[in-house]
Amino acid sequence: MTISSFNPPIRTLMGPGPSDVHPRILEALSRPTIGHLDPVFVEMMEETKALLQYAFQTDNALTMPVSAPGSAGMETCFANLVEPGDKVIVCQNGVFGGRMKENVERCGGSAVMVEDDWGEAVDLAKVETALENHKDAKILAFVHAETSTGARSDAKELVELAHRHDCLTIVDAVTSLGGSELKVDDWQIDAIYSGTQKCLSCAPGISPISFSERALDKVRNRSGKVQSWFLDLNLVMGYWGGGQKRAYHHTAPVNGLYGLHEALVMLQEEGLGNAWTRHTKMHNALKAGLEAMGLDFIVDEAHRLPQLNAVSIPEGVDDATVRGRLLNEYNLELGAGLGALAGKVWRIGLMGHSARAENILLCVGALEAILSDLRAPINTGVALAAVQQSLQS
Ligand SMILES: *Cc1c(COP(=O)(O)O)cnc(C)c1O
Repeated sequence: MTISSFNPPIRTLMGPGPSDVHPRILEALSRPTIGHLDPVFVEMMEETKALLQYAFQTDNALTMPVSAPGSAGMETCFANLVEPGDKVIVCQNGVFGGRMKENVERCGGSAVMVEDDWGEAVDLAKVETALENHKDAKILAFVHAETSTGARSDAKELVELAHRHDCLTIVDAVTSLGGSELKVDDWQIDAIYSGTQKCLSCAPGISPISFSERALDKVRNRSGKVQSWFLDLNLVMGYWGGGQKRAYHHTAPVNGLYGLHEALVMLQEEGLGNAWTRHTKMHNALKAGLEAMGLDFIVDEAHRLPQLNAVSIPEGVDDATVRGRLLNEYNLELGAGLGALAGKVWRIGLMGHSARAENILLCVGALEAILSDLRAPINTGVALAAVQQSLQS
């Protein structure tokens, strides 16, 4: 058998990530590979750190991309900050809080879970009770933007609560970075991680992180070594933090970093505040169309993320049939529900370059066409006009 080159179809990505990658970023990814210790490359790494500080709104010196996907950024935070025997309060209101618990336990810590229903924001009162009942807790960990449900939690308030109880904070901002308000220094977040393939609209595989001085103190004063050699920040910093005196630790994903650099340059050109506003504007247009059709959001308006829209699947409609037809007939990818929400919701991502008018018209138009064809109980002939009206308002 002769295997030939792989040529992917051109899809429109409106799921939970990856999102559509802008052509400028795809072009950047294909620029000539150079050595990862080449002075020109090192300069690009320094610029990438500065651009990430802007995206995170922080002056933290340790702000850098981990050479692996968002999950590795998560592990970097836990592996460096959690020591054996540490108690960590973990908030769970969707899939990713459960992964935080796994991380705590694998680092030898114990996780105290604060649980909220999927689709809800993290409940501040429950967190406060947990902090009061566990005075020996060292860290509070939570997900800012829960991609499995589309709920946003109040990061600023949660961090304040944690600090009042002498806890550090680990924040999952994989889906919030670049898509909705996030201010690492103003909110005094201690350790945060994100991903490149959500609202930064870059190819997957890199995880931006940022650590405050307070968090680094804990890393420097550990009684034992970080159990992961690859993610040990003491070693990684010799590579990313060493300027032109960089020590070899691993080979950075050279071309992937060209892509991230380009994505961050684009974010700077647009302006972070403008990017947040665009996501909200596009969310409002999508919402107008879906609601005109008669579909409902599962998250309360007050906690809804603009970049991840979870809507209920109409009665009697088969989830897989609709998503399959969207993919085959319209080259459009939507996300399925996870866990308890499997088969009950669609997750429609409006992340980064995916958050634009033509995607919304395609999504609403294609959904209406297929749902009508399946004789689902929806209102027809009104959704596209509602989108149009919202976009023009
Ligand atoms: C996507 C995502 C992750 C994991 O990122 P990967 O790049 O898939 O490893 C973690 N947390 C949240 C909230 C996410 O949406």
